[in-house]
Amino acid sequence: MTIDQINFENKRALIRVDFNVPLDENYKVTDATRIEAAKDTIIHVLEHGGSVILMSHLGRPKNKEEEFSLSHVIAKASDILGVQVQFVEDCKGELAEKAANDLEPGEVLLLENLRYYSEETAGDTSFAKALSQLGDVYINDAFGTAHRAHASTAVIAQFFEEKCFGLLMNREMVSLDKVLKTPERPLVAILGGAKVSSKITVIENILTKVDDLIIAGGMAYTFIKAQGGKIGDSLVENDKQELALEILAKAKQTNTNIHLPVDVIIANSFSEMATIDKAAIGEIPDGWMGLDIGEKSSQNFHNVLQGAKTILWNGPAGVFEMEPFANGTISLGKSVSEATKNGAFSLVGGGDSVSAVKQFGFADQVSYVSTGGGAMLEMLEGKILPGIAAIKE
Ligand code: AMP
Repeated sequence: MTIDQINFENKRALIRVDFNVPLDENYKVTDATRIEAAKDTIIHVLEHGGSVILMSHLGRPKNKEEEFSLSHVIAKASDILGVQVQFVEDCKGELAEKAANDLEPGEVLLLENLRYYSEETAGDTSFAKALSQLGDVYINDAFGTAHRAHASTAVIAQFFEEKCFGLLMNREMVSLDKVLKTPERPLVAILGGAKVSSKITVIENILTKVDDLIIAGGMAYTFIKAQGGKIGDSLVENDKQELALEILAKAKQTNTNIHLPVDVIIANSFSEMATIDKAAIGEIPDGWMGLDIGEKSSQNFHNVLQGAKTILWNGPAGVFEMEPFANGTISLGKSVSEATKNGAFSLVGGGDSVSAVKQFGFADQVSYVSTGGGAMLEMLEGKILPGIAAIKE
C-alpha cells in the first residue's frame, strides 16, 4: 500500500518521524533538516482530510530528563509545517489517548519522547500495542531509525491494517533502487572514510554491481600496503590486508575497475598544525601519514566520474574536518556535482559523507542526499531494514 492509496478522510494518521534534532544550550533547534524532511508526508495527510499524530525519539534519555523532551521541538515544527503543533506530555496511556481522540482533521499532535520508556528500544510488543491505540493508520517516515527493530519503527506495524511508508522513506528507497537495482551505466561508486572493516560488507555487496569503484580515504592504505606499498604511519588495518587482496582479485574476475589514489598529502602528525608534504602513494616515509588524496588522484577520479551515468558516494577522501586535508573531498564534491549537471544521477549517503557534502555546499548540486547515516549504510550492505520489512510484510 502506498500513501496515495490510503483514504485519510477523518482518520488519525500515527506517523513515526525522526525528530531527533540537535539542540543548543537553550534547547533551540540548531538544524531542522529532519523536521523539514518529514513535512511532505504530514502535509499530505492534512490535505487529504486527516489529522496527524507525530511520534519520535530525541537523544538517549535515561530517566525522562527534561533536556530530551520533544516539547523543545514544538515551535520549530509549527513554523515549518505552518500549523500550530499541539503537544502531549506522554506518548501512551490516558493522557495521550484523550489528546489523540480530541484531534480534528487538519490538526497535528506531537507526543512526548518515545525513549522516555525503555520498552521503545527493547521493541516491547505491549508498548507497541499501546502506541497503536492512538491512530487509525500507521505511517513510517523515520528513515534515520529504520535499521532499528524498535517498538514504534517495526513492532507496531502488526497492529494496523492500513499502513504505508511516508514520502521520505519512499524517496530514500527509490533513490537507492536507482543506484543498485536499475542503474544507468556506467555506475561508479566512491567509498571513502576511515576503515575497511566498517565498509567491508558494503564493498562485498556492491562490488559485482558497479562498473568502477573508487577507493579513497583512510581505507585505501590497507589496500596499498597489502600490495607492497610503503604507507609510513598512515591508518591501516593489518588484519584486513588479505581481504583487500581478495577484493582486488574478485574485482578482476568481475571486470570491476578499482581505482586507488596515486598520490597523497602527508603530515608528520594527525593535526592541523602538522608539517605537510606530498608523496606518491606507495612511498610514504616512516613518521608521516597520508591524510588526504593528492591532485593527480583527484584528477584521475574526476575523469572516471565524468564518464558516469550513476554515482554512489559514501565516505570522505581525507580528514576533511581539518582544513589542510579537506581538498580531496572538496574536489570529489566538485567532480560529482559536475557529472550530475551533465545528467548523471548521484546519491550521497551513509555515515560521514553527508556532513562533508553539506559543509562544503554540494548538497544542492547532487541528485539525492540521504537523511539516514546508519540506515543508508545498512541498505548499502544489502540488509533489509526492520522498519521497511514491517510495512512490507
Ligand atoms: P566513515 O565514518 O567511515 O565514513 O569515516 C569518516 C572519517 O574518516 C572522517 O572522520 C575522516 O576524518 C576519516 N578519514 C578519512 N581519510 C582518512 C585518513 N587518510 N586517515 C585517517 N582518517 C581518515
